[in-house]
Amino acid sequence: MRYVSTRGGMAPQPFCEILLEGLAPDGGLVVPERYPAIDPLTLSRWRRLGYGDLACEVIGRFVDDIPAEDLRALIAKTYTSEIFGTAEITPLRTLEPGLHILGLSNGPTLAFKDVAMQLLGNLFEYVLARTGEELNVLGATSGDTGSAAEYALRGKQGVRVFMLSPYGKMSAFQTAQMYSLQDPNIFNIAVRGVFDDCQDIVKAVSGDARFKARHRIGTVNSINWARIVAQTVYYFKGYFAATRSNEEQVSFAVPSGNFGNIFAGHIARMMGLPIRTLVLATNENDVLDEFFRTGRYRVRSAAEVVQTSSPSMDISKASNFERFVYDLVGQAAGVVSELWRRVDREGGFDLAGTPYLERLPEFGFVSGCSTHADRVKTIWRTHERYGVLVDPHTADGLKVALDYRTPGVPMICLETAQPAKFAETIREALGREPERPAGYEGIERLPQRVEVMDPDAEQVKAFIALHAGGAAS
Ligand SMILES: *Cc1c(COP(=O)(O)O)cnc(C)c1O
Repeated sequence: MRYVSTRGGMAPQPFCEILLEGLAPDGGLVVPERYPAIDPLTLSRWRRLGYGDLACEVIGRFVDDIPAEDLRALIAKTYTSEIFGTAEITPLRTLEPGLHILGLSNGPTLAFKDVAMQLLGNLFEYVLARTGEELNVLGATSGDTGSAAEYALRGKQGVRVFMLSPYGKMSAFQTAQMYSLQDPNIFNIAVRGVFDDCQDIVKAVSGDARFKARHRIGTVNSINWARIVAQTVYYFKGYFAATRSNEEQVSFAVPSGNFGNIFAGHIARMMGLPIRTLVLATNENDVLDEFFRTGRYRVRSAAEVVQTSSPSMDISKASNFERFVYDLVGQAAGVVSELWRRVDREGGFDLAGTPYLERLPEFGFVSGCSTHADRVKTIWRTHERYGVLVDPHTADGLKVALDYRTPGVPMICLETAQPAKFAETIREALGREPERPAGYEGIERLPQRVEVMDPDAEQVKAFIALHAGGAAS
């Protein structure tokens, strides 16, 4: 299995070469040369596997430069009931016959990003140990991604994390989750500004090629390929849990932002998993819903991005979307390059009236949008009807899913976070506090370790240079 760029400008590379960087040198995204095909016999065999064994099979199809027994050990260490709460790792709950919720948010930071990030932490440590290299991970977060990265990389050999977050802008719970970490390899930097200021600093630091090379700066953002592959596993798991035989089809509903999670579903479908429909749900930031309804992809300006009560889906553009468009245009890298030249020049492109858009139904995507009022109503109704409490992001998915149910085809809604993380919206919907899972009571009172800084890339660089010990000169 080799990886190439969506824009065609990268010589084929093995998995470990692209593990630390999702971006190709030509500005495209790395993708596999082809998707592995899973035949019906193999699928039948996989039906009987537990999460870890299934993960070995699925992920193993994308990795051929880590010995199978090493990969197996890394996966076994990652997907445990200690870390994910149950041996099933991603348990399926049935709301009513044909309507299910796949629980992806039982990891340490109570959001689905843990499922991929926990494996990434172990993969990073393994690959760095093999080459004797070190890595300084630099990132910006408005909440979920940063905490998932920190909990995955805390205490790992050879890795340090420098995570920028907007000072005073995250919920008390999210702030406590990140800043209460005392591991010496985790550095929280609170920037006096907003999330965009944090992201601009990351861009400025990464844009300084000499500084980046000298201090071995890497990222764990949503375009990381290993994260996507790790997410493909639970589509298989969810399918087996909701069906009895491989003759059956299912649909998945996915609350979407950067298009990472639902792209993993697209991969599963391309591999041969019998997925009928991939239901993409957005909140008020409807870049992706607009594309799937009209064929027009239009990046939003910072001023157009709305702050919503499902904040992890508040995006101006979808960073993984280029990978899907690559498949949609028949893996023609020249076409993708031209489309993204238009994104850079004109802020988007329109596929309406092209043969590419006519092919869209082959890929099984449908979409819809959910508003704050929809979330609140869906949270209330789901609780009223089924006695199940969902978070605002999952509610977006559930709301859109209900518009696309087909008789006889189970609908599986991906649960992307726990309600405890979003107490304010739960209070609005139910008039009471969500319960905290055991171990998270009173985390706001733990001592916090954080460096507060002005939005100044030079100051951040100086801080990294001081703490990134062991870097080559
Ligand atoms: C990251 C996130 C999403 C969006 O997932 P993408 O892979 O970016 O589409 C949805 N819900 C929650 C809770 C998240 O943390």
